[in-house]
Amino acid sequence: MDYLIKNAVAVASTGFSDARDLRIRGGYITELGNALAPTQEDPETVIDASGCVVWPGLVNTHHHLAQSIMKGVPEGLNQDLGGWLSSVPYRFWPKVTPELMYHAARLGLYELIRSGATTCADHHYLYHSTTSSELEDAVWQAAEELGIRMVLCRGSATETGSHEGMIEHKIEPESIDQIIDRLDTTRKKHHQAGPDAMKKLVVAPTSLIHSSSPEGLKAQAQWARENKLRMHSHLLEVDFDEIQAHKRYGQSAIDYAESCGWLGKDVWYAHLVHSDAHAIERLAATQTGIAHCPTSNCRLGSGIAPVILMAEAGVPISLGVDGSASAESGSMLQELNLTWLI
Ligand SMILES: [Zn+2]
Repeated sequence: MDYLIKNAVAVASTGFSDARDLRIRGGYITELGNALAPTQEDPETVIDASGCVVWPGLVNTHHHLAQSIMKGVPEGLNQDLGGWLSSVPYRFWPKVTPELMYHAARLGLYELIRSGATTCADHHYLYHSTTSSELEDAVWQAAEELGIRMVLCRGSATETGSHEGMIEHKIEPESIDQIIDRLDTTRKKHHQAGPDAMKKLVVAPTSLIHSSSPEGLKAQAQWARENKLRMHSHLLEVDFDEIQAHKRYGQSAIDYAESCGWLGKDVWYAHLVHSDAHAIERLAATQTGIAHCPTSNCRLGSGIAPVILMAEAGVPISLGVDGSASAESGSMLQELNLTWLI
């Protein structure tokens, strides 16, 4: 945990300073400067960073690591979100064994680390009534072995909705009691509190509108807040969320989320592509964040999230690579570059 990094071309944090060297003690940067000398009394690993730029670890706020083994599936090409979900992730979901999940997680995490990420929020949603906890354990294990910070966003569905993979394989969804029981088991086994945590658990129903009930959402929000866990889901990736929210609940998707306790500074959503002025105002007022996933949104033709308007309104913005079955990549540099381009 103790390093002296020397001779970098530049050291970037919130800006660039003149410093070329930095010292790390017990996982923390303790000194920035030039011509820092190795300490005699306390040996540290010296790294020559000549020709390199040193920058902070990037934080990926939305992924589906299981999809790292579902790249380039021909049936998913030229499809929109609904068609692609049926043709790729939902079709293969029932075939993902714990062993496959472990290798998919390692592959996805390697790609992230190679692009400078040190934290990964994985929206892991492979749960049903008889699911094995080994699938989830495989993700925790892969992250632990590679030394990346893991934020496991525990997905769930209490309704099958239009999930053809579940219907075809006769998979029953979980009950809300089952979800909370299993969440609590994971919390006790893995979740660490505090800023130095390497493992965190997040409550993350897979979709607010299509596969959860208002009662289930309220119960999960209450449980999450009692246990000081953050909350995450998909929202407004395509305009179908807005249409369904009006049809099922007689209000906009963002108002429905708020009515279920699902806006707040402890909540962030993937996509939010179809946010109108009212949605942006509510997100900003409640400090609800976005995981902006431009590659996946472009690939599936979902659109471009209005992140410039969100930034002006004060919505917390972060970047996510989304699953590799839609992004065809798991690179934070790709997301940074595309965010800048569009
Ligand atoms: Zn996603």
